[in-house]
This record gives sequence, C-alpha cells and structure tokens, in this order.
Amino acid sequence: MTSPVPETLLICPLTASDLAGMRDQMHRAADAGADAVELRLDFLTHTPSPEDLQTWIRQAPLKVLATCRPQRQGGHYEGEESDRLAFLAHASRAGADWIDVESDVPEPQRPQGHTILSFHDFQQRPGDLADLLQQMEDSTGKVCKIAFAADNPQDALVCFDLLRRARKPTLALAMGESGQLSRLAARKFGAFGTFASLDAASGSAPGQPTLEAIRSLYRWKDVTASTQLYGVIGCPVGHSMSPAIHNAALAQTALDGLYVPLRIENSAEHFARFLDGVRERPWLDWRGLSVTLPHKEHALAYVGEANCDELTRKIGAVNTLTLQPDGEIRGTNTDYAAAIESLCKTMEIGKSDLSALPCALLGAGGVARALLAALTHYGAEVTLYNRTLRRAEALAEEFGAHAAPLADVPSSQAQVLINCTSVGMHPDIEACPIDTIPPDTRVVFDTIYNPVQTRLLTMARAAGRRIVTGVDMFVEQGAAQFEIWTGLQAPREIMRNVILENLDQTSGD
Ligand code: NAP
Repeated sequence: MTSPVPETLLICPLTASDLAGMRDQMHRAADAGADAVELRLDFLTHTPSPEDLQTWIRQAPLKVLATCRPQRQGGHYEGEESDRLAFLAHASRAGADWIDVESDVPEPQRPQGHTILSFHDFQQRPGDLADLLQQMEDSTGKVCKIAFAADNPQDALVCFDLLRRARKPTLALAMGESGQLSRLAARKFGAFGTFASLDAASGSAPGQPTLEAIRSLYRWKDVTASTQLYGVIGCPVGHSMSPAIHNAALAQTALDGLYVPLRIENSAEHFARFLDGVRERPWLDWRGLSVTLPHKEHALAYVGEANCDELTRKIGAVNTLTLQPDGEIRGTNTDYAAAIESLCKTMEIGKSDLSALPCALLGAGGVARALLAALTHYGAEVTLYNRTLRRAEALAEEFGAHAAPLADVPSSQAQVLINCTSVGMHPDIEACPIDTIPPDTRVVFDTIYNPVQTRLLTMARAAGRRIVTGVDMFVEQGAAQFEIWTGLQAPREIMRNVILENLDQTSGD
C-alpha cells in the first residue's frame, strides 16, 4: 500500500465574531483532528489590537492561516484596502504560518511573508484554469489556491488535473455540493490542503464537509495516492445512505477505497459529462458507481444495452456501474436481485420456487418495474395494483402480468404482497397503502426503508405474517454492488447496522 500524503493539511475555518470565540473554535478543531486553522479576520466584528492578535497567534496549538477576505471576493471585510493589507502584514509578523492574499491585489501591494495566493470565482469555472495556475505560480506566492463554483462533479476532476500539473503546493477546490469530490479526495492528489468546518453552521464556503464527516465517514487519514474511488450519483444525493454503508464496508475489509456523493443535475448531458470525464482520466482509479434517482435510465442509455445483462435491459434502469482501468464500463441492476434474495430468504425458498407463485405488487413506478421484471423472470404470477390504473396496465402488458386498481387488493389471492409505492414513507409514516392484509398472503414486503417498520409491516406482523423490510433490500443491493466491484464478500451486518444508526440519528428520507 502506498504511504499517505502527509503534507495535505486538514484546515478548519474559524468564523466566530471575536478572538475569544475563535480560540474556543480552534480548540474544538484541534480535538476534532484538524492540522491547521484558517483565522478568518474578516469575520471579526471589531479589529483586535496588534498585541491581542499576536498573543492569539503565538498561543495557537495548530498551524495558522490568516485570511481577511474583502467583500469583492465573497468575504466580510468592508474597510479600506490599505488597512486590510496592513492587517494581514501584521498577522504575518505576529507569526501566522501563512497569509492568504487575493490574486487581484497588484503584486507591489501584496504583503510579504509566506503567502497563499488565492483566486475565487463564485459564479462559474473559469475557462483558462491552466493559464491562471501558471500565472499564479510565476508570482511570489508560496502556495496557490484556486476555488470556483462547480455545477457538475466533472469540475472536481478539473481540479485534480490542476493538482497534477502544479509546480508549487496548490489547493484546487470546486465549491458547492456538486464539487464536494474535490475536497474529499484532495489528499489522493497531493493537494496542499482541504477545508473542513467544525459543524454545518460554521462553514466558510459552499460544499465544505465537517471535520467529523471527512475524518470518520470519508476516512481522510486512510486516503492514499493509490486509493480507488467509488461514489453514488443522484439528485438530490445529500440524503443518501450509500456513502455511509460503502465506506463502512471498505473500512471493515481494509480496502484502499473512498466512496463519495456526486450530485449531478437531472439530464443525460450532465450525467454523460461526468462519466466521460472519469473515463478520460484512468489515473483517477475510479472503479464503481451507484446510480440513484433520477439517473438510472440515463445510466442505461450511457453504457448501452450491449454492456448490460438481460434482466437489467428488461428493467430499463441501471443502478450499478463498474469501470475498468481501460475505460470499459458495464451496467447492472442490483435492486431486483436484492429484493428477490431478501424475499426468498424470508420465505425459506429457492428462486425456482417463485415459479407460479401468486404475487401482488402495489405501485407501478421504478421499483415496481424492477421487481416485476425479476418476479416474472422467475415465472411468478404477478398482479400490479396501482392508484393510476392505466400506468399499471401498460407496465403489466409489457411483462405479461395482470393489472387492477388498488381497491381490489383485499380480494387478492396473492401469497406475497410487496409495497412499491411511496405510501407510508417518512414523514407521512401513519399512511398505509391498504387497510387489511389479504387472507392468503404469507409474506408482506415493504420496499420503503424509512421508517424501518412501516405501518403496513406493523399491520402484517400483528396479523401473524412474515415480513421483509426495505432495509433488508437496501443492504442487499449495496452488498451486491460491493461484491461486484471488489470481488470480496460484503460485511452485511456492518452495513445494516450503519443504516439503522443513520435512521436513528436522522429523520432523513
Ligand atoms: P416512483 O417511480 O415515483 O413510483 C411511486 C409509486 O407510488 C407510483 O406507483 C405511485 O402511483 C405510487 N403512489 C405515490 N403516492 C401515492 C398515493 N398517495 N397513493 C397511492 N399510490 C401512490 O417511485 P419508486 O422509485 O418506484 O420508489 C417507490 C418506493 O420504493 C419509495 O418509497 C422508496 O422508499 C422505495 N425504494 C426502496 C429501495 C430499497 O433499497 N429499499 C430502493 C429504492 C426505492 P401513481 O402511478 O398513481 O402515481
């Protein structure tokens, strides 16, 4: 295993309104594992005396980067430019390890010292980044920092391009949720540092992770130059539990891998832009991607039917992409396999026993489609019950199944009943798609995983039926992805516990 890149600093911005508050934040940052703090002088509501500032800096237990961002560069400092530069010069003399000086300050006016020359664009990615970096490297700054607003994770890949060509220590950051990858994987590409906040409220730029998240969830200290990358593509993606379960699985199996969230706008073009970017850069070591709403159809279109298995083609949606070092890409759908595995395990039957088994599927959306394709593939007799009957009829016809209105469920003779609607999902947890369990039904399966025990499952349990939860299915689909990508057995119990802990801590959906 390659050794970690020790010089990539974890820098915590301090954003309190006075030095005492910043001291408190600094001690918390030290406890939380930061290597350095960014003393955001522009957040102070009163300018401290030179003596107080000097004492503060000299007593700091961590390395100090002093920044005094003017309003024109997205900061809070409103005073005269000459005072601002004098303030920074003083911080440097007082012992700050670095001072941040914006690249729009004319060279003769820049304070002397260990400077980080910084460039920010809060609107977009500048077109001439390589030229910009070169100009910055040609100046007197010791470190270069380029930060710009991202609108696609591909912008983070461009940051990694910059880090690879940099001749001086460099930070390259794609700001915003879509660019989070540039922060989480900065260590892999030998960045000078990355910023992580104390908590969600005290961040100083969009997309900054918290120290807690980057160190524990995203395994900062384990990232090396040869770390393999994985991630989940979605929109939204912030609520996804996939980073938690996959990073826990990677940690448990001691694999050198990192799994990140990737927010991509809902369009096939945005999806393709990122995937093309990944495949053009084999040195990223990108090995696998989970795909969630609304991109499962985009993923199928991108890889092409020829690169998917038969059932995935029938389902018409890909939730797993596997990448080879030569850019080859394959798509599959682990949702259906997960559902079938969970069902068979609970019923204590083999897949061949699904043949001719009467099943009722509630819903006619994406999950219903995956389950319908899988159940009919194994020969089950499926009836789709949906609020919008026309939708159920169209789907049923495609797979040789039957369709009926939701109101007909009580007279169903199904032995298996599966809820694929969103009825009963957090926060509407008192809702239930049906009032009674049909008499012949032996097993009730709710694909909803938040809450774990839906109203439907509580009702089924009370009526003495076996149940399958959405968590069972979620663990299985993630475990199947992990096994496809790594060839190792997935630590299912660990993955399940992570989900249950996450569901306990959040009311997330
Ligand atoms: P979808 O494509 O949006 O379909 C939603 C379905 O729910 C449609 O059939 C819709 O009926 C029905 N529905 C929505 N509101 C309803 C209401 N008030 N009354 C009756 N029916 C209603 O969603 P999806 O992607 O298939 O996801 C469905 C569920 O699967 C989600 O709740 C999610 O929690 C769960 N899921 C679980 C996993 C897992 O791993 N466990 C993975 C993915 C999704 P109409 O056709 O009439 O609109």
